[in-house]
Amino acid sequence: MEQISKFKEMLMKQKAYGYVLNLAGWDSNTEAPRGAFARRAEMLGVISGELFELNTSEEYQEVVYGLFKKFNELDDITQREIKKAKKDLDKIIKIPKNEFVEYNKLINLSQLVWEDAKANNDFNAFKGNLEKIVAFTKKFVDYYKIDDHPYNVLLDGFEDGMSMKEYDEFFNTLKEDLVPFVKEVLNSGKVLNDAFITDFYPREKQKEFAEYLIDVLAFNRDNGLMKESVHPFTWNTHSTDVRFTTRYLEDFMFSSIFAAIHELGHATYEQQIDPKWDDTYLDGGTSMGIHESQSRFYENIIGRSLEFWEVHYPKLKEIFPEQLKNVSLDDFYRGVNKVEASFVRVEADELTYSLHIMIRYEIERMLFSDEVKVEDLPEIWNEKMVEYLGIEPSNDTEGVLQDVHWSVGMFGYFPTYALGSAYAAQFYYTMKKDLNIEEIVKANEIKTINNWLKEKIHQYGGSKTPKELLVEVTGEEFNPKYYIQLLKDKYGKLYL
Ligand SMILES: [Zn+2]
Repeated sequence: MEQISKFKEMLMKQKAYGYVLNLAGWDSNTEAPRGAFARRAEMLGVISGELFELNTSEEYQEVVYGLFKKFNELDDITQREIKKAKKDLDKIIKIPKNEFVEYNKLINLSQLVWEDAKANNDFNAFKGNLEKIVAFTKKFVDYYKIDDHPYNVLLDGFEDGMSMKEYDEFFNTLKEDLVPFVKEVLNSGKVLNDAFITDFYPREKQKEFAEYLIDVLAFNRDNGLMKESVHPFTWNTHSTDVRFTTRYLEDFMFSSIFAAIHELGHATYEQQIDPKWDDTYLDGGTSMGIHESQSRFYENIIGRSLEFWEVHYPKLKEIFPEQLKNVSLDDFYRGVNKVEASFVRVEADELTYSLHIMIRYEIERMLFSDEVKVEDLPEIWNEKMVEYLGIEPSNDTEGVLQDVHWSVGMFGYFPTYALGSAYAAQFYYTMKKDLNIEEIVKANEIKTINNWLKEKIHQYGGSKTPKELLVEVTGEEFNPKYYIQLLKDKYGKLYL
């Protein structure tokens, strides 16, 4: 069909522009000198403008909508491509270009305003911008003319097929089953030998261990690399070029270890995607939630297990003989899994993490149901912290201002973090039926686990939806009971 080859041709051009923008993005987040930002923004603005034209051109619309009309004549893969392409197009073309430009300017500006407001603990300095971003978001959702609750539209944008119905069920389960359990753990009175956690660990030595971890997780160095950045992230353009970062805090070594393992999880997913998807609309990981399930799987289920440290703790001790001199394997394992009520999401432990997400979900849900105003957010935030974690932030820097997401207009994204952790648990119980995971980790053969994930999940890239993957891999739809079970088993043993 002529239209199909036209679609492929246009897609390749969009991908080429995207590739260049991505590469420049990696550069700005890792190595580019600060002084280069103004010129960079100007140059990249031109390229992004070109890409926007390509993404929305009449010619492209004709091809995508034309093919959509012939949907039943298309093969399965092209059907999936066109469905996704149409979904994106439906949204982007409904926003007037001048408003799109205005919104992007606001977002760029707001990030800096947020940074300052956070640094100065001054919510009022950010309030005006946040109000504008929320108003824009509501207006855009209106333009889409999708017959659904605005927050559902946003949620679906980050995780295909997820809505408040599923998330409400999920978070209600957490509220009923997990919140009381967390309180029990926090009140257990267990004392840990954990002073070593905040000892001094020189950067260069931490780097040595992070390099060691790359090989433990069998990451393919021919097709990827690791660097450093303030906020760790994974970056890729296709399966043969996957890069990630970690960060080194000299008074908190766990940060680099678990950031590296977490990002290695994202990176392994991307590296193991079948290259046949590279030239299609179905490239890359399928969703935020599934992506996060892979990073959390490696970080928490593998990386925070006793078996993992049975094998790798000797290496860490060899690198830090002084700091870990009097720290037994058991102390170390408990330290790695230390539970505490804390204010900051990115530093939260495995057990309390999803409660931080629940707070954000409930606030966003209220915001897009017109039940609260932006000005009330600090107060609501603090109330919910008390309700779920029993602690009250003493200022907005460690409260409502802590995350970057809202300043860049990402509403509906947070829930995928908790969802990913829960997906990971569901995959874990399925994997257990096929593999003796504990033995594999002890034998330092993580490649076997990588292969299982490749065969069941990774190879498909974006060609299957999150829901399809869950059912095909685990035999059932999303079920949060596995997540609760995993947490209760593990932390019950550690604390109760
Ligand atoms: Zn992640």
